Amino acid sequence: MKSVLILSGGIDSSTLLYHLLYEGYEVHALTFFYGQRHAREVDCAKKIAEKASKIGFVDHKIVDISSIHELISKGAITGEEKVPEGYYTEETQKITVVPNRNMILLSIAVGYAVKIGAREVHYAAHKSDFIYPDCRKEFVKALDIAIYLGNIWEQVELKAPFVEMTKAEIVKLGLRLGVPYELTWSCYLGKERPCLRCGTCVERTEAFLLNNAKDPLLSDEEWKEALEIYRKFKPEME
Ligand SMILES: [Zn+2]
Repeated sequence: MKSVLILSGGIDSSTLLYHLLYEGYEVHALTFFYGQRHAREVDCAKKIAEKASKIGFVDHKIVDISSIHELISKGAITGEEKVPEGYYTEETQKITVVPNRNMILLSIAVGYAVKIGAREVHYAAHKSDFIYPDCRKEFVKALDIAIYLGNIWEQVELKAPFVEMTKAEIVKLGLRLGVPYELTWSCYLGKERPCLRCGTCVERTEAFLLNNAKDPLLSDEEWKEALEIYRKFKPEME
């Protein structure tokens, strides 16, 4: 079984990579550089793909589509606005939306799948990303139909097996599969070390905390600080 996977270098897609390898897939991973502020993710994706290739077939390509930056550089992720701090809420995180990002990336992935004869395209949309419309299961379903209609001679199926899972559930699976989370990157800021306080950092802290695990990317000191920050932001959502 051949699959094209969109690998960002974060927790979700890295877990999906390991999951697919253990399911026996030959994985053709694509990492897109689209002008995101946290370009550091791209290096992480490279390291994860290298490491994962020890347990199964992984072909990894980095695809530079940064020339579209000018067309879609509206949100905080591509550097126009300040990244909000704290727990994900609709208002604070709307600003981190890159317009139509997943549709653009998935379109390219489907074209690549047709070219190499892969019948499936995987991406790691999940329930905790509800804020992003292109991570919701309705979107996955609709796009799957559009892909079918647009490639009727060479059928490709869109799969998002984590779409009903929370981030904590994904980490739970990944810890079991031995995903090297110390190589993954989540922080939106893309500095030397994670900021620990942006939406994705706080979400990451929570996902490990709910599994009674320490985030292996962080030092003991950083983990302690991350937990303090998490507890500070947490009441906001109750
Ligand atoms: Zn951060």
